[in-house]
Amino acid sequence: MREVIIIGSGPAGFTAAIYAARAQLTPLLVASSLETGGELMKTTEVENFPGFPEGIMGPDLMGKLQEQAERFGTEVIYDDAISIDIAGPVKKVTLENGGTVEASALIFATGSAYRTLGLAEEEALSGHGLSWCATCDGFFFRDKTIAVVGGGDSAMEEATFLTRFASKVYVIHRRDSLRASKIMQQRAFDNEKIEFVWNSDVVAILGDTEVSGVRLRSTGDGSERDLALDGLFVAIGNDPRTHLVHGLLDLNPDGTIALQGRSTKTSVAGVFAAGDVADPTYRQAITAAGSGAAAAIDAEHYLAARGTETAHAEQPGRGDLSR
Ligand code: NAP
Repeated sequence: MREVIIIGSGPAGFTAAIYAARAQLTPLLVASSLETGGELMKTTEVENFPGFPEGIMGPDLMGKLQEQAERFGTEVIYDDAISIDIAGPVKKVTLENGGTVEASALIFATGSAYRTLGLAEEEALSGHGLSWCATCDGFFFRDKTIAVVGGGDSAMEEATFLTRFASKVYVIHRRDSLRASKIMQQRAFDNEKIEFVWNSDVVAILGDTEVSGVRLRSTGDGSERDLALDGLFVAIGNDPRTHLVHGLLDLNPDGTIALQGRSTKTSVAGVFAAGDVADPTYRQAITAAGSGAAAAIDAEHYLAARGTETAHAEQPGRGDLSR
């Protein structure tokens, strides 16, 4: 049995792994079957992670965190956790491949998932002019007219990035002021290719097989109008990815995992949470990384308190992890 399993491969997960590995807890990190690295894999330049005065590309930062975690003995498996059993002292994680892994402590760092507009046509048009990732799909909109929905940092970042390709980028926001940080707002305001569409809700995405526009409803007088577009990017925030722990861990009213005081301890002994999945407030790469470090330290203290036998627990055979 392992000492620590970490679920999630964003800044929180890999920082927890670095700390747990350096504490010689030989952590196993369940990354994902699709993409390791979390949301930063979909961003461009990260300018506010300390230590990189010139900025660093999101995927490069995640690559470095993984390299650092593996250097100290973290084992990464590229699979999805599909269920967990955490009631007893042994925490069991079932993987998509059918295997199970067990540990005395579990760190939950599953991050958050993109929020959708909740429109019926979203599923059909996703990948057909509708996207949640400017860095992934921006290239397809060279010299096109597109729009970004949202008023936070993500929307400003996406809109600014997309002006590299598109000839025109509308930012559609439901209010008349932005939630984004001042520097990100100013960058968007200063960009000649960006035009703001204020006080507007997207009530329909138009197009049968490809996005051809959106129907907007004024939040003031309720009037509707259509805006012709070649593409639409949705950047309206994220929701904590907690589907694995529903009914198992206490959650806050906003859906994040509830923690005890300033610790990373959840409502179940031996289970810790870090990063966006437990953070309704800060949700930055650096705060996620910081909470990942705290979770590893909390897990280390928990294991030490349980007795030295857990610190020398047997490693599982790798056979049970193979597909
Ligand atoms: P966010 O700050 O929660 O902003 C979401 C935006 O989408 C808000 O403007 C919100 O409008 C709007 N919105 C939410 N639901 C909507 C809906 N159903 N229809 C239309 N609009 C909707 O999310 P975020 O921009 O993804 O940022 C998340 C966190 O990551 C933040 O802490 C942010 O600072 C951080 N972040 C940082 C950077 C950076 O520093 N480089 C980049 C990206 C993200 P209201 O304003 O009316 O609520």
